[in-house]
Amino acid sequence: MKKLLGNDVTVTVTRILAGVVGVILLLIGLSILIMPEVVGTFLLSLSTTGAGINSLRADLGALFLGMGFFALLGVFSRYRWLLLVPVVFLVLVMFGRLIGVSVDPFPITTTGALVGELIFAFFLSSAVVTHALSSKPEPRPPVLKAIFNLRFLIPAAVVVVLLIIAFAARPQIGSRLWSGAISGMISQSEIEDLPDGLHVGLAGTGAPMPDSKRVGQSTFVMAGKHLFLVDCGAGSTLNLELMKVPIETAEAILLTHFHSDHIADLGELLLKSWTYGARTEPMLVMGLEGVESVVEGFNMAFRLDAKYRYAHHGDAVAPPSGAGGRAKTIMGFGEDKSTVVFQTDDLTVTAFLVDHRPVEPAVGYRFDYKGRSVVVSGDTLPTESLMSQAEGVDLLVHEAMNPEMLAVLNREASTAGQDVAASVANDILTYHTFPEEAARIARDANVGHLVMTHILPPMPAAVLHPAFAGDSDRIYKGPITIAHDGMLFSLLPGTNEIEEKWLLR
Ligand SMILES: [Zn+2]
Ligand SMILES: [Zn+2]
Repeated sequence: MKKLLGNDVTVTVTRILAGVVGVILLLIGLSILIMPEVVGTFLLSLSTTGAGINSLRADLGALFLGMGFFALLGVFSRYRWLLLVPVVFLVLVMFGRLIGVSVDPFPITTTGALVGELIFAFFLSSAVVTHALSSKPEPRPPVLKAIFNLRFLIPAAVVVVLLIIAFAARPQIGSRLWSGAISGMISQSEIEDLPDGLHVGLAGTGAPMPDSKRVGQSTFVMAGKHLFLVDCGAGSTLNLELMKVPIETAEAILLTHFHSDHIADLGELLLKSWTYGARTEPMLVMGLEGVESVVEGFNMAFRLDAKYRYAHHGDAVAPPSGAGGRAKTIMGFGEDKSTVVFQTDDLTVTAFLVDHRPVEPAVGYRFDYKGRSVVVSGDTLPTESLMSQAEGVDLLVHEAMNPEMLAVLNREASTAGQDVAASVANDILTYHTFPEEAARIARDANVGHLVMTHILPPMPAAVLHPAFAGDSDRIYKGPITIAHDGMLFSLLPGTNEIEEKWLLR
């Protein structure tokens, strides 16, 4: 047996196999480092944003790069026992998986990954064993001496005992964590602490197609103490709450048009903003012709719930006079297709007509506050009115749709026999703006910073963003941001700066 395992051919074959494992581990590590979202989203089914992506890149990247590094070091040096370093990590990974299968409440199977890790560990260990049995083994691996040593074994045993105690005490740890988490959840909103200025937040940056990273359209604009909520697509109220936007203090909800990805959450938003502030007058909802019937419809749908809330909480939370919305139709558009909808000494809010035919009319909004400005395009093709409203603004939040990427989706849907999906993908080509067109508008209107929102088709990973933006950065030389739920842009008076923050964790 020793002869068979230790002969030159076996030693060489196991060494090559260990080398292959080392290269694979290194490649996995590199791909996590370069595009953590692709590995996270498509291979590991993780839904990560912001800090999560950063951790994935750093932690998981380091694990795989480290394993690959020691595997190759073991293969190419005479210290074959170095292969035991990645083996230890693989054993710990498998251990974690087995614990996960027994205690995690998710219906997951990671059998494929487990088998892969077992094979990797087997190949790496084989190379160590065959080399040790060969005619020219290296000096005894010091690692064994280090392990079988009381100075190591005692602390290791303490760690194991602590782990067992921690597992047994999970309910207690959970309730402690909950108390800690709650104080974090009800802590002061970052938004209320913002300095005086024009603050633009993105609570929903998606479109009707499902995007795991983006909910329906919602942009909020805080100008000094005045808060406006522009559109309220599906899921956006929860995002506004997670971003700790004080929705109960909003002056008005401004609707751009009545497509569902812009209004589906109106009922929820009216209800929450009513009870959070114990509002005594209905929330003002401004929009174009048809806004009365939209608001009345949501009011009617939520009327029973409003009754329940009052019955349960009374006037202190749910004064009946404040339930629901109060519609106001925006009128009085001038020759330049715009009209002022709100004005104070410092703040002007302007609505302007855009081209989203057959949805007619549809508007975008411009906010001017103490010398800083933002335009929110709404859904539109490139139009004159938008161009003139965007002239010289600091920030242009513009919708964008990539036709080539949509065409791929269209083709795939057709091939899969999903004719309706293919037909929708085809129809929407004619009433949205392409990324390069948005860039051209930003360039020609001398915009300070372009944010592309209403992302179509869905972009589940940031690694796709450069492909989505296409040639935009060649056309427009200013900063371009592909919108993500949770972003906040702060424009302080007296500066040209735009500060960026991330309010969804
Ligand atoms: Zn839309
Ligand atoms: Zn639309």
